[in-house]
Amino acid sequence: MRTLTAVTLAASFLLYPMFGPAQQREVVVAFRNIDVFDGSRMIRNTTVLVRGGMIRAVAPDVAIPPSAQVIDGKGKTLLPGFFDAHTHLGQVFGEQFLKDALDFGVTTELEMGGARSSQLLKAKVGEDANVADLRTAGTVVTAPKGHPTQMSDTPIPTLSPDDDVQAFVDARIAEGSDYIKIIYEHAYPTLTRQQIEDVVAAAHKRNKLAVIHITIQKDARDAIEAGVDGLVHIFADSPPEAGFAEFAAQHHVFVIATLATIESVTDTGAKPWWQESPQLTSYLTPSMRRSLEMKYPPRFREEMKLTNAMSAVGALHRAGVRILAGTDAPAPGTAHGLSLHRELELLVRSGLSPVEALAAATLQPARAFGFHDRGRIAEGVRADLVLVNGDPSKDIAATRDIVGVWRLGAAHRRAATGN
Ligand SMILES: [Zn+2]
Repeated sequence: MRTLTAVTLAASFLLYPMFGPAQQREVVVAFRNIDVFDGSRMIRNTTVLVRGGMIRAVAPDVAIPPSAQVIDGKGKTLLPGFFDAHTHLGQVFGEQFLKDALDFGVTTELEMGGARSSQLLKAKVGEDANVADLRTAGTVVTAPKGHPTQMSDTPIPTLSPDDDVQAFVDARIAEGSDYIKIIYEHAYPTLTRQQIEDVVAAAHKRNKLAVIHITIQKDARDAIEAGVDGLVHIFADSPPEAGFAEFAAQHHVFVIATLATIESVTDTGAKPWWQESPQLTSYLTPSMRRSLEMKYPPRFREEMKLTNAMSAVGALHRAGVRILAGTDAPAPGTAHGLSLHRELELLVRSGLSPVEALAAATLQPARAFGFHDRGRIAEGVRADLVLVNGDPSKDIAATRDIVGVWRLGAAHRRAATGN
């Protein structure tokens, strides 16, 4: 039995290039004396056994095979790999974005539209241990000249009033959309309420979720009335009206908060949150810096306030609405992977406990999007794991102090960039 301390763990990653994927997957790893966040609660001082890419046991008295790499978990916490429930991949940097995500413990990204290349990428990602796993909305459902046609270099299909909605939705599914994303945005030409209802019905007919982009409270209410499954942003134009949160709860919608990007949209000129932390800056890649250092134009969406968004998230959470962590990376001022840690902190500031915020990036997105194989630490679940120093159930910022990341039981080699 080899015992690996936290210090030698980094060195052990050097062994991995010698193995092919099959051998990697047979590696047995045992986390001993470890505190575990299992997706909903903390389990203290237990053992987690991983073999063949899956979690095989979680119990204090597990027998550890002689071939196991043993990682002493004292003073550390093991968590399910994080979901980022709202990202984009763009046309050029897709694969690098998914590497960036994994560097910061995000093992599954839910892409929310834009890049048709993302569908090809999804096929390519497969079980590559060095990039985050991916699900995608693919091409969004929007009106002619609607958002985000103004951002696209190439024409994208749009839904006109006379178009066959079911045929349009079926074409998206045929292209590889895992869920249907609708755009409802009155800063541009947009769909009618009736069209939204029709798109939701068409998606549900094919057993796909229908989620929607909104940015203002009135549109959020319309969309919920139209029957969507989830909002991919919280609104920030106004504080939540009395009864809004209860209304959302009655309709069983989930809400992907994207506070990290709303913070960037409503930039007050304060020093960026990540700059003072060597735990973060040591791992920034050029692609991360590129989006982090971008800014929204001055006075962009002047009516939006982060405090409105945070009070809405707090009210929704208190009313029992499922809140999911999502960043909208690589929107200006955000980056894949990194910004998820800011999102967790902003969820806590909005009124979620640290444990509830961790669930918003693990068990809750798994449940909302129908993943049964991840988002938890339990026997029979994928070994997508993040090991951190400290206890993020007490201090959410501990998620930033990452010791190691595993995808399907294979250690991800996280290279310091030396900044
Ligand atoms: Zn987005």
